Amino acid sequence: MIEVRDAGMAYPGGVTALAGVSLRIHAGELTGIVGPSGSGKSTLLNIMGTLDRPTSGSVHLHGADVASLSDRRLSALRGRVLGFVFQQCHLTDGLTAAENVATGLLYAGVPRRHRRASALEALDRVGLGHRTGHRPHELSGGEKQRVAIARALVNRPSLVLADEPTGALDTRNGQAVLELLHRLHADGTTIAVITHDRDIAARLPRRVEILDGRVVRDTGTPERAR
Ligand code: ADP
Repeated sequence: MIEVRDAGMAYPGGVTALAGVSLRIHAGELTGIVGPSGSGKSTLLNIMGTLDRPTSGSVHLHGADVASLSDRRLSALRGRVLGFVFQQCHLTDGLTAAENVATGLLYAGVPRRHRRASALEALDRVGLGHRTGHRPHELSGGEKQRVAIARALVNRPSLVLADEPTGALDTRNGQAVLELLHRLHADGTTIAVITHDRDIAARLPRRVEILDGRVVRDTGTPERAR
């Protein structure tokens, strides 16, 4: 699915955010990328998401070396196979939940009426089938994050990358979002989630611990996902 090989990331100014990280994620896994603030988790997520290119090593997505693709081919591949969820949900204020989710298909060449049907289905998957016409200001923080998750899912990506998806939520809403990720995983969705929260991490089937830009522990791929 996705493989990071000996990736390094040196930012201008001499910060080494990643120092030789190797990681392979298989279809069907729910993986936590865990570590304290500043350990390199977001940098790793950005290179896995092909939003940034590593300064050394390589990233392979569906067998293709990302470095060999032009920016245009790469953004097409990214749009087709990856879904992103961030700490802040980044919804558009004037649009309904369904319209926000449908924006996840804008660049996939899907006709308008199909976009709406797919958006409604994705909202159903996150338990928001009864909130499709609500605008962001009419939704709770947890519901907004579930809309953002539906938007990440609407294109049926092979891998969902989530960066601290519960970081901006209170305990109860955070818990609901976490349960949703577990449910999606049980349905076969492949998810990598970044967290600095040890309690969240403890419940994930696989944990990759990052410290100072290195993998210090990887509990490995559960037998089932191999
Ligand atoms: P985490 O997500 O674990 O908090 P990050 O990947 O954001 O860690 O950051 C890892 C290190 O790289 C930190 O020391 C951070 O300050 C540095 N860093 C992150 N992004 C940049 C950047 N764009 N330019 C320079 N340094 C950066």
